[in-house]
Formats: sequence, C-alpha cells, structure tokens
Amino acid sequence: MIEKFSGKKFSGKTVYSGTAMGKVMVLHNSQAQVRRTKIEDTEHEVERVQLAINETISQLAGLYEKALKEVGESSAAIFEVHQMMLEDDDYLDAIYHMIRTETVNAEYAVAMTGDNFAEMFAGMDDEYMRARAADVKDISARLIRNLSGQEGMDFDSMEPSVIVADDLSPSETVQMDKDKILAFVTVHGSTNSHTAILARMMSIPALIGVSMDLNEIQTGMNVIVDGAAGEVIFEPTESQCSEAEKKIEEEKEKLRLLQELKGKENETSDGRKINIYANIGSVADLGYVLENDAGGIGLFRSEFLYLGREDFPTEEEQFQAYKQVVQTMAGKKVIIRTLDIGADKQVDYFNLGKEDNPALGYRAIRICLKQPDIFKTQLRALFRAAVYGNISIMYPMIISVEEVKKIYDIVGEVEDELKKEEIPYNIPEQGIMIETPAAVMISDELAELVDFFSIGTNDLTQYTLAIDRQNQKLEDFYNPHHKALLRMIRIVVENAHKCGKWAGICGELGADTELTEEFVNMGVDELSVAPSMILKVREKVRAM
Ligand code: PEP
Ligand code: MG
Repeated sequence: MIEKFSGKKFSGKTVYSGTAMGKVMVLHNSQAQVRRTKIEDTEHEVERVQLAINETISQLAGLYEKALKEVGESSAAIFEVHQMMLEDDDYLDAIYHMIRTETVNAEYAVAMTGDNFAEMFAGMDDEYMRARAADVKDISARLIRNLSGQEGMDFDSMEPSVIVADDLSPSETVQMDKDKILAFVTVHGSTNSHTAILARMMSIPALIGVSMDLNEIQTGMNVIVDGAAGEVIFEPTESQCSEAEKKIEEEKEKLRLLQELKGKENETSDGRKINIYANIGSVADLGYVLENDAGGIGLFRSEFLYLGREDFPTEEEQFQAYKQVVQTMAGKKVIIRTLDIGADKQVDYFNLGKEDNPALGYRAIRICLKQPDIFKTQLRALFRAAVYGNISIMYPMIISVEEVKKIYDIVGEVEDELKKEEIPYNIPEQGIMIETPAAVMISDELAELVDFFSIGTNDLTQYTLAIDRQNQKLEDFYNPHHKALLRMIRIVVENAHKCGKWAGICGELGADTELTEEFVNMGVDELSVAPSMILKVREKVRAM
C-alpha cells in the first residue's frame, strides 16, 4: 500500500504557508467512522461491547489517578462519573437490545444509543442532568474507539507529526499539544474557519481541501507538507526530501531576517504610525506574542477557555487566566473579547440545540444577554483581572444600540455586586466588534456609546457577501478584497474618528499585506494579527 504512494502529490488550499517534513499521524473522527453493518452473531457483538467496557473503565480509572495528581480531586471526579455511567443498566440494555433486535454491529449500536441518550439528557429540565449529555457522548466515543481498536491522541508519547484528518473542530484543535504538531492536512475545512485561524496562530503549515482517501493513508508514513505550493507529498523520494530540506532552511533564514525588525517602530517613512497587536486564543499563546514583539493583544478569543472541556470554567479559573495574560503583557494593552460561542464553536455543555442556520443563530452576545449568569461570571473575572494591568473588553456580534445599553446595565449590576462584596475591581475601556453589516450602518451612533471599534472582517465578510465562512464549496466565490468590504471598513474608521474613538481590525484581513498600505491610508489605528504575521506586517508598514 505504502509503495503506491511513493512521491505522490495531492493539492489543497493553503491556510498557513511554510514547509514541514515528518511522519503522518492520522486522526480519525470516531463518530464519522461508524458504519452500520448487518451481523449474524449478535452474542459475539454483545461480548465485544462487554470487553470494550472493561477496557474503557480501566482507562478511566487511570485517567482519574492521573488527574487527581495533576489537577486535584474536584476536576478528577468527572472520570469517576464516566465510569459509573458506563455501568448504567439503562444505557447498556439499550445497546444490547439494539444489537439483538436490529442485528447491527456493536460500534453502530453504541453510537446510536449515545446519541439517543444525549438527546434525552439535553431535553431535561434539571440543569445537572442536561450537562450529562456531553458526558454520555464522550463515553460513547471512547467506547467506540476501544471497539474499533482506534487509539485516541496520546500526545505524551507521540513524536512531532503531521496531523492528517477528515476535518478538525476548533475544540479538537485547541486540545492539541502544539509542540507535537508539524503541520495539519485535512480533507475538508475552509480557509476562514476557526481551525484555520488556530493553525495560523501556531504558525503551523496547514492545508485544507485535500482530496485524499483517509482509509489509504497510514499513521507512520513519511510526508512533506509544502504550504507555499499547496501540496502534500506522501512517501517522498530522496530528491523531494532534499528539496524540502532546502526550503525549510530558506524559511528559517527569512525568519531570521524578520527578527531584525524586533524592537523597531511600526512607522512609515513619512512618519505615520499604526499599532500592530496579536490575536490569541489561550494563555499558552503568550509565548508567540512575546517572541514576535507584539505591541499588545488586540483579540483574546476568550471562548477558547470554554472549549474542549466538560463544564463551564469557574470565575476563579477565568480570573487566573486573564490575570496571567495581563501580568505577562506588563502594561501593554490586552483586549479580551467576551464569550463568542455558537456557530462553529460548539460546546456540548451549553446545550445550544440544533439550529438550521447556526451562523445566523444563537451565538456570542445573544447568549450572554439571554443567559446573563454566564455573562456575569465572565465580567466579574474580567473586572477583577483589570486591577492587574491594561485590560480592554470588547463585545462580539453587536447589531444594535439597545444591545450595548443592555450590556452596560449588566456591567452596572456586576459592579454593584463587586463593590458590595468589597472585591477589588476596575471597569476597563469597553469596545465592540464591528462584524455585522448592521453595526457598520449604525457605526455613527455606536461610536458615541463605546470606547473603540474592532472590525471582525471574518464574520463581516460572511454576512456581507452571504458566504458561509465554513463552506468549502464557496471558496471560489469568496473575495476577501471585495469593494463592499473595503468601503465598510472606511466608513467604520471615519465614524469612529468623528467621535474621537479609535478603530482597529482584528479579523484575518488585518494580516493581509496586500492591503496594509490601504489600511494605513484609511487611518486604521490598529491591526491585530496572528503573532506569526506581526513582523511581516511591520516590514510592510516600514516599506511604505
Ligand atoms: C471576526 O469575525 O473577524 C473575528 C475576529 O472573530 P472570529 O473570527 O473569532 O469570529
Ligand atoms: Mg467573529
């Protein structure tokens, strides 16, 4: 099988350029892998489930011990709950019944039962029971992995590898150990998805839309990812390897030259300045921010604190994360965006339910205004952390003046609580993201209410061009330089300045060096970009 790949190239769309060479790690999506097959020997399937359950329980016991040592009893408890759920008679009976009556394979019966139970839990009134929907999905996925002999990602023992997958969700990507990933290559995905954004954040070569058959690609194969050419080569020949090695060396040299721009101003030759800040998703990204000499953090996607976990982060956990970021940035501005969950950033324990049009649905500030308890916990953590440094807050997906007023009411309530409890706090500068055409059209009125604007071009493009940023089929229609968008950015900057407020861009377009000159000429005050793009944008500004 491997020989037939010798030097075989597949093309894809580049999300982050750069060359990588190493071993493949195929990441299977356990749910997508499950196929329904008719079986003869139902009792054999039942036995397989029983064996897999024993194996899963002993894995969970191991995880409990590990978590107990590393994160303490309360966080470890979830693994005990999972063990108990695996022994639940209703769950097990449902699986065995389906195997026997429908004569189907064990994997399929577990997947269906998992989905049914999760749906049942999600519909319950009791909040605790609703939260169990995510757990039952989790244990079912683990059980399926054990049934089909697939291993989960074990980052501890894995050597740095090129991850090859059908698609990756933001929550999968965020859980990965970045030091162990040489590149991403996926069959699906779109250039503006959050997974693509994460790849850029980590400066990891990434290709999407590669039409390869995942059943034929094996973990351990040799691979070259050539981001600049948009190609992936499996089982490369010697000459392909030496060419790749040369490219990797050249890229290192270019990076070294860029390093010379560290400590220099973002200033044009005629003396115009612009702030160049970094976008981050977690505390772990701070290293990239410092390494690339960012002037501040222009977008901390705080929702990543909520992804890839079983339950809401507590106020204390959030406070510690925000505090660590501001303390590390030592007085430089840190703009933290409040929770922007929903659409492609799905979190099971939020129980958001299925929507026909999730990108136009219940997301971001809409969730915060409808479920103020979640919002207030985050605001408390933010206001407390603001005592330790230069925090600004911004609110996502705003469409009206009324929303901003409602936010300020909630901010007032949180402030009263903190005052009453005698907890030190600070109410920082507050701005909004401009990422809907509605916000652009009323940006004159909004400018009077807020301290700053940050233009989210990723969503603004999707809502202006009516192009789903997740839909791979629309890549050819997607024109990030569309005149409509550039005019909107100009309008927003002008309206901000008329009110004496500042306006920046924190969407991916901010890092597009073909537009840097135009943005500076428009008077954009700040560009917030992936850390790996900071010095490239600085180079462009200085060349103006
Ligand atoms: C945007 O929409 O441009 C943005 C910065 O937010 P996100 O990509 O997280 O939706
Ligand atoms: Mg957005």
